[in-house]
Amino acid sequence: METVQNIVSFEKEDREKLKQSYIDALQNKKFKELVKTIPTTEEVLMKYTSRLEDAAEEFDHCLNCEDLAGCKNKLCGYLLKPLVDGKNLNFEYVACKKLQKKLKDEAYLSNIELFQVSKSIRNASIADIDTKDKERLKVIRYFKNFLDHYNDSEKPKGLYLNGSFGTGKTYLIASLFNELAKRGVYSAIVYYPEFLRSLKESFDSDYKEKFHYIRRVPVLLLDDIGAEVVSSWGRDEILGSILQYRMEEGLPTFFTSNLTLEELEEHLSLSNRGVEKVKARRIIERIQFMTEDMKLISKNRRNKKDPVES
Ligand code: ADP
Ligand code: MG
Repeated sequence: METVQNIVSFEKEDREKLKQSYIDALQNKKFKELVKTIPTTEEVLMKYTSRLEDAAEEFDHCLNCEDLAGCKNKLCGYLLKPLVDGKNLNFEYVACKKLQKKLKDEAYLSNIELFQVSKSIRNASIADIDTKDKERLKVIRYFKNFLDHYNDSEKPKGLYLNGSFGTGKTYLIASLFNELAKRGVYSAIVYYPEFLRSLKESFDSDYKEKFHYIRRVPVLLLDDIGAEVVSSWGRDEILGSILQYRMEEGLPTFFTSNLTLEELEEHLSLSNRGVEKVKARRIIERIQFMTEDMKLISKNRRNKKDPVES
């Protein structure tokens, strides 16, 4: 039968063992550095020597980390961290700095809704715009002003950016939207010709949802307007109604087009019948009210393998 004295001596022995293994572990520089940073007593620390050794090893991996993909820790992107809890230590897996940055960088992506647009523009960044090109400089100035004033009660106007195929119009606006998304602003990029087609096809299903979403989204790009097949339905019921709503609500709206506004007016006229001309004019007037008109002259940046609507 165990006597009280036996139990006490066992406990003493255990304690001695714990202490010895803790002292041994302190020979390791990584271990020593880690325990120095934990605000608790040696009495507490020595109960957790083996887990602290694991944590020290993981922390050291982080200090010498080159990239997340090469993470040497047990759980990629996480490190075991000791946290003081009274007279105990708790060990938790916390995201490392690199993973935290990656998650933060990617969180904004869900703020931009893409409709029939190439996902590659998700990487568009204002920092990558060629500032030596004077044409782009004026766009960057406009972007800066837009970002500075987006939170004003009267929001800045959008852009009607026109220029030939492949000059980077979509890329430029996407880079602004990415910046807005990082600041928590929701936006949508709609490849307009395809969007119109898909609206027609979804007439019996989610047509209303899509249409209302686009009308109300805080910032909108109607990409490649003028490349659509014109119908009076598309022009008056869809485009006219989107623009009317957004104009009244002061919601910034952007357009890219291969056509100038005069050419777009012509395109929207369908025919020379008087009534069509008046309707086309009304659309153009709304666009003029809502945007600054800017022309982009530049070389074609498109690779031959790029999809047309990228
Ligand atoms: P547009 O809309 O004028 O037809 P895009 O915006 O689609 O042209 O640009 C054409 C191609 O060039 C795309 O593949 C786009 O990703 C690329 N591109 C445009 N501007 C840049 C830039 N500043 N940096 C890197 N790639 C760019
Ligand atoms: Mg484009």
